[in-house]
Amino acid sequence: MAAKDRLAEYRAKRDASRTPEPRGRGKRKNGPVFVVQRHDASSLHFDFRLEIGGVLVSWSVPKGPSLDPGDRRPAIRTEDHPLGYADFEGKIPEDQYGGGTVVVWDTGTFDVLTGEPAEQALADGHLKVGLHGEKLTGAFSLIRRHSDGQEQWLLVKKDDDSADRRRKPAKTRPESVLTGRTNRELE
Ligand code: MN
Repeated sequence: MAAKDRLAEYRAKRDASRTPEPRGRGKRKNGPVFVVQRHDASSLHFDFRLEIGGVLVSWSVPKGPSLDPGDRRPAIRTEDHPLGYADFEGKIPEDQYGGGTVVVWDTGTFDVLTGEPAEQALADGHLKVGLHGEKLTGAFSLIRRHSDGQEQWLLVKKDDDSADRRRKPAKTRPESVLTGRTNRELE
């Protein structure tokens, strides 16, 4: 499917004249990009996004990513986002879809660690990626459990050198890696 068509749901949910969120596709950087956005909306969650096939494939992770391989974090697949969303921070008006504040909690590039291409691994429901971020590094698995209208996945840290059972960045480091701002400061 062309990237343009993959963003139809993203566009349908938003009023471009009312939200500061990007509308265009955005430009590609050196290597596929991952981003985790801390989104303080009707409920606080983290949006985990991977550049695959010209869009940001996205999951909503209520408790945020963990560095502890023992934590299995529920991740609900959401609509693909444009690449330009990867550096979006700001305040979405309260009466708009996803109304609330967004900061770039972590970002960087990633490697696909499965033997097959990312698109195929995604379709198969088992993706393994190596993240090169500031708060998140090393291997993570995304595993699809079931679909009940929404696809329910789990995000799990692999037990490698960057695994850490004590550090809890989702709790202790809420700030943006781009600007140091917190969601509260954007309100
Ligand atoms: Mn969100």
